[in-house]
Amino acid sequence: MSTRRRVGLYGYEGYEDLTYPSGHPFRPERARMLLDILRREGFLSRPEVEQRTASPAPRAVLERFHQVEYLDLLERAGRGEFSPEMLAYGIGSEDCPIFAGLFELASLAVGATLAGARALADKDLEVAFNPIGGFHHAGPAYAEGFCYLNDVVIACRELADRGLKVACLDLDVHHGNGTEEALIADPRVLTLSMHESGKTLYPWGGFETVLGVGPGTGYNVNLPLPEGTDDEQYQRVFDSIVMPLVDRFAPDLILFEMGMDVLNGDPLAHLRLTNNAIAEIAEELRKLDRPLLVLGGGGYHPANTARGWALALMVLCDAEPVDDFVGLVGGVFLGSEERSGGLRDMKLYAGGPDRDSLVAEVDRLIEFHREHLFPLFGL
Ligand SMILES: [Zn+2]
Repeated sequence: MSTRRRVGLYGYEGYEDLTYPSGHPFRPERARMLLDILRREGFLSRPEVEQRTASPAPRAVLERFHQVEYLDLLERAGRGEFSPEMLAYGIGSEDCPIFAGLFELASLAVGATLAGARALADKDLEVAFNPIGGFHHAGPAYAEGFCYLNDVVIACRELADRGLKVACLDLDVHHGNGTEEALIADPRVLTLSMHESGKTLYPWGGFETVLGVGPGTGYNVNLPLPEGTDDEQYQRVFDSIVMPLVDRFAPDLILFEMGMDVLNGDPLAHLRLTNNAIAEIAEELRKLDRPLLVLGGGGYHPANTARGWALALMVLCDAEPVDDFVGLVGGVFLGSEERSGGLRDMKLYAGGPDRDSLVAEVDRLIEFHREHLFPLFGL
């Protein structure tokens, strides 16, 4: 008999009012929308699912990765103070604005991710999900791309220091540049980033030729994808490159950043995925039967993001609702953005010349890694 995987969902009780300024694309309230869907789908009342509350990570933890002067400035910015020197650290830019509570919000994200990581390492959970986590652009002394503190790096390093092999699989549509920079020489963490190519999207890097440095050579895997990539080509890259590498690396734990800015219609990016592609990947990850630290990452169409997260999380936990509800659940009619047919998007496929050029580019990417990366893993 198989036992259900224990799931911890990390929320920020008491801090719900913290948010980026109005008009900023990053909306932490996506987490509330996610909970509404999960409640409606009955997921929250499953015995194996537990809602947990995170606390902000203490300064000492943040200082393991971030520089002291930067943290001092960030704390001041979180009190709403501004000084011109902050700009040199990326604090106060359009992407990373100054607002009251920003330090608490960023520290909470680290606290929640780390609490999840520890619960998995201690075998207290099998799946931990921090929807407001995955701030993969933040550097040791700079804020960028909506990210102030890098919870991904802090968690990966702590897990590696505990002797665990970590596969860090980042599906957010943006290249995880902060994570890459921090872990590029570290063979304890296999870092894989599938993202829209830096030729067309911020942070303008993450090319396949960057394979790691020194002892970390081979442990930094970039999978840059062309604009318009659809489910079929995305899945092909995942199956051809990601799965064999993860299999060979045999991680003790998988960090899975499932940014929903990959979805068709995201206002900040240009891929054409549906949430079926992420659900497929979630299914494959579930079958690996490893502890999963799941982070929300980006996603700037709030309703699509919340629905995609809910679907992927339920698939990871083998709990996708069997019945496609059609607008009537528990006697309450659900209008608005909820589609008939449940959580899954309608499928989309590229066709014609677009498809031919997509296939050619994906072929080239797969070939590159087969030639340059696979031999390093004995594949
Ligand atoms: Zn992103």
